[in-house]
Amino acid sequence: MTESCAEFPARHVFIKCPECRRVIDEARLHDNLEVCPRCGKHFRVSGRARMRMTVDEGTFEEWDANLASEDFLSFPGYADKLKGAVERSGERDAVVCGRGKICGCDTALFFMDANFMMGSMGSVVGEKICRTFERATELGLPVVGFTVSGGARMQEGVTSLMQMAKISAAVRRHSEVGGLYITVLTDPTTGGVTASFAMEGDIILAEPDALTAFAGPRVIEQNMHKRLPKGFQRSEFLLEHGFCDAVVPRGEIALTVGELLALHEGTCRPGGTA
Ligand SMILES: [Zn+2]
Repeated sequence: MTESCAEFPARHVFIKCPECRRVIDEARLHDNLEVCPRCGKHFRVSGRARMRMTVDEGTFEEWDANLASEDFLSFPGYADKLKGAVERSGERDAVVCGRGKICGCDTALFFMDANFMMGSMGSVVGEKICRTFERATELGLPVVGFTVSGGARMQEGVTSLMQMAKISAAVRRHSEVGGLYITVLTDPTTGGVTASFAMEGDIILAEPDALTAFAGPRVIEQNMHKRLPKGFQRSEFLLEHGFCDAVVPRGEIALTVGELLALHEGTCRPGGTA
């Protein structure tokens, strides 16, 4: 059975783009960094996939890969949810941290992961990002962080809220010694993550059409009983209103960040190590 199947060419998988409704070959979408080749819709990607898209091949060294969340409040259903998230995502929690090179420039990095409980921020996410800033401060490295999050992880109660202050303090210490912090907002970055370290970057970039908000548009509309303007809280709206510095398509992010790191470092140049 296996032998006869092997004679057939690999089957194509097709996906319908939720934006333009066209059908796309999954392999073509993948080659295009998970961006619709027809309309430019940026599909969500895992933290690890984003790391591979951004960091120079073979340079990534992961930090604190073994830290995993626990159900310390015995919150109903949390233990099962965690188990399911680990199985589905292949990760231990919602952020991948480490150091690596972008266009030849050395930097500390974190990549949040929407596939793990919608990138929610619990004690492990907070601790890993906090340690990333502390190590970057010690090593004299910049930090580049990709944010995606549904907000604080309610199953960890006030401990998850505490991470906002904890990370913000580490960002401040990193900044005080002249460290550069670049944030890349990806869809969706919301809640406590937006209210803290996502918006604390020295330079804030955003992927096109990424939702960045504390409270989402539906909640605001329900409270204000008003229709919100088109594109409200999307990257282009943020740029227009001074909340981010540039909207950068996924295919240009590595080079843009590499150029910024090179400018900050003053010595290395994108694409080289000199
Ligand atoms: Zn499309």
